Amino acid sequence: MRRPIIAGNWKMYKTIPEAVDFVRAFKSLVVGSTHCEIVIAPVFTAIKTVSDRLEGSNIEVAAQDAAADPGPGAFTGEVSASMIKDAGARWVIVGHSERRQYFGETDDTVSAKIHAVIGAGLSPIVCVGERLEDRDAGRAEQVVEGQLTGGMRNLTESEASRIIVAYEPVWAIGTGRTATPETAQQMHSFIRARLGSLFGAGVAGETRILYGGSVKPDNIVALMDQADIDGGLVGGASLEPDSFARIVNYKSASR
Ligand code: PEP
Repeated sequence: MRRPIIAGNWKMYKTIPEAVDFVRAFKSLVVGSTHCEIVIAPVFTAIKTVSDRLEGSNIEVAAQDAAADPGPGAFTGEVSASMIKDAGARWVIVGHSERRQYFGETDDTVSAKIHAVIGAGLSPIVCVGERLEDRDAGRAEQVVEGQLTGGMRNLTESEASRIIVAYEPVWAIGTGRTATPETAQQMHSFIRARLGSLFGAGVAGETRILYGGSVKPDNIVALMDQADIDGGLVGGASLEPDSFARIVNYKSASR
């Protein structure tokens, strides 16, 4: 049984006081939500405060990125995976399309970051996903396969089993245009098959594959109904306690 994960990516939003206000309101809205793991990814500067406020709760913390080098070292501006762990996070988002698009991250960078994150004892949430022109040209699977094999290379089976994959079609991120549940399911099933070829049926069967791209309270139920969708990576709709709690509590909405 793969336990679902609903993760919120706050991107470059929320000061520390704003993050604290969110946590105060959100905690009570999901206090009884035991059907899934709940993760919040604040900006680096708020990780420690948010982690402290969430101690003993059913909500965990992720960073949105980590340095490729395990460090410590002379890498001005970088934050290592061990430092992220020290601040209280358990997860790290790696290879988000905004990092690939605006900060030049490649599959090589993603691979190095995955190794650094796993090396620090944290779990990477590895993002893959095609751009609109790739999908329109019929090469969506080819692109995602390249990102998987390029990013997830030189990993043992046990290291690979620490990874969460997030399928985030770039054309659906922040656009309000969600992939249909069927389109998402098709790609998730493809990703699981590829994981099977890379790491064996055991890892493929156990890996949680999240969908990301304009997930909202009104589309989460249909997405979660799909056999290979094991959760969501949520951007915009994770910024308000009420909408994020409604996504987390999709189970009660589907009854
Ligand atoms: C994201 O940032 O990973 C994301 C999926 O954003 P949104 O939900 O706003 O599309």
